[in-house]
Amino acid sequence: MVENAIDASATRIEIEIKNGGRQLIRVTDDGSGMEREDAVLAIERHTTSKISSAEDLRRVNTLGFRGEALATIAAVSHFELITKTKERDLGALVEVKGGLIQKVKDVGAPDGTTVKVQELFYNTPARLKYLKTIPTETTYIGEIVSRLALGYPGISFRLQHQEYELLFTPGKGDLYETIVAVFGAAVAKEMIPLSYQENDFKISGFIGKPSIAKNNRNNEIFFVNHRYFHSRTLSVAVEKAFHTLLPIARYPFVLLFLEINPETVDINVHPTKMEVRFSNDSELFKAFYHSIRKTLVDNSLISEWIAPEEDLLALKYQTPVVKSEKVQTAENLAINYRELQAGPEEVLAVGEGSLPDAEYQTAATVAPLPNETAILQDFYVFPKAVDNTYLIVQDKKGLLFVDQHAAHERILFERYMNRTKEFLGAQALLIPETVNLNYAQFKVVADRLPLFVELGFEIETFGGQTIIIRTVPLSLLNLNYQQIIVDLVDQFLEFETFKNPAEIKEAFITTMACRTAIKAGDNLNHLEMEALIKDLFKCENPYTCPHGRPTIFRISKEEMAKKFQRR
Ligand code: ADP
Ligand code: MG
Repeated sequence: MVENAIDASATRIEIEIKNGGRQLIRVTDDGSGMEREDAVLAIERHTTSKISSAEDLRRVNTLGFRGEALATIAAVSHFELITKTKERDLGALVEVKGGLIQKVKDVGAPDGTTVKVQELFYNTPARLKYLKTIPTETTYIGEIVSRLALGYPGISFRLQHQEYELLFTPGKGDLYETIVAVFGAAVAKEMIPLSYQENDFKISGFIGKPSIAKNNRNNEIFFVNHRYFHSRTLSVAVEKAFHTLLPIARYPFVLLFLEINPETVDINVHPTKMEVRFSNDSELFKAFYHSIRKTLVDNSLISEWIAPEEDLLALKYQTPVVKSEKVQTAENLAINYRELQAGPEEVLAVGEGSLPDAEYQTAATVAPLPNETAILQDFYVFPKAVDNTYLIVQDKKGLLFVDQHAAHERILFERYMNRTKEFLGAQALLIPETVNLNYAQFKVVADRLPLFVELGFEIETFGGQTIIIRTVPLSLLNLNYQQIIVDLVDQFLEFETFKNPAEIKEAFITTMACRTAIKAGDNLNHLEMEALIKDLFKCENPYTCPHGRPTIFRISKEEMAKKFQRR
């Protein structure tokens, strides 16, 4: 019904629901309206005014085109349509019950259309039974209206449930304002604008800093020619662009609009029109991947803390913020990889999508992220860390908080990745070390000796599932490297599905960085703290540890002033 209002060129759409829509759904628009005869016709099956030739089917640019909605709704409810065109003085009222017209008459009405649906599914008890609870149905409606509102920032939407206004968008054509209205200011503040143009298409919208990533894909939001849709290809492109910025099983928050010639899009592949097919899939994949990567590179990604605000819609419609974040340790990293592999539809396997293998490289080698030293100047590190864990730094914009373990992990990770020789250079052991493994572990090592050499381990196999370690990487010399090898091998058993050697190496290096980094609770002196901060700011991606947890966030001076009610 709301899509119909959009197709009728409405500038204002009001949706009122009662009891989650069971009792009432009323959609009022100020669009074109219908003539009396058309209003009667509109509720017939397969009647649409939106297709007049076979040609039209190839370049659909309305949301509806099948002529099914009104007929279907009117068949299972008490249905009322009031509509008036500008040209007429009087409007028409059509009343339908269970698909049978009860009344048609002239009425006084404003320009536009009001569709009122009451007692939904009153004559189909089986369907009625499948309706969810009132809050759940309200949430579904809220999500749909929110997506439509985001897709059409030029239209003002109002959603009312009983006496509560759940959503209001100003409809002035400003996407950012619409994002504020839908998701709240705290989320909007973490969004970075993106725009990208090619001959055949245009991408625009916003991408979220890692700080607002979600534990599901609900906020990978795509529109093609204003139409909301799902795309595995584009999801993979987005997730690859955020590679190393987010932990495993966290998903970017993006809101991206694709404008493209409708003839290259097939929106008729799926009954709910949620999936679309493009004729130039791989081009789009690359364009999304590179434009997002570039936007991430060109912007500071430090998360800005702002005081949470009471935001009814954010409270009602957003996936609740997960309170007890699973900490990404090497242990549960493996488990998360398994989860990532598991789910059939919900979860995409990394490595899918159409980016050619040759083009996939690890983040460190693709487009380096910005160097924060250029952005952050004149900083002062406070000599005392909170809980021997969180360093406090002042910069021009406010106070920065840095997790010393996550930060050091990031620093080591980049060093190991970029300057492999110096840090992973093999160091001969005076007395070679033997380690006994189980069969699976032994097999992994025996089959991949060159990979271990690359990581600084020269290993020989010996009978009876025993390996002899002859060299270890420089940086592990004083650590329990036998254990680290076993960890790496166990991880490999988990990661085996990841065929890409670059990804395997990266996973290994992540583990090594984690094991060799200073820990939370380690007491650092002031010089060490300063060195850590300087090294962090020199990183290509200082914002997250290699597992994707944040290393840093800022509370700006403005936020502090607000907290103290100075403004
Ligand atoms: P479709 O949208 O696929 O054409 P619907 O069953 O949703 O099919 O609507 C049937 C027809 O009724 C539309 O093609 C349109 O002409 C008319 N119509 C429905 N809702 C409105 C509205 N809000 N304003 C103007 N015309 C409408
Ligand atoms: Mg329709």
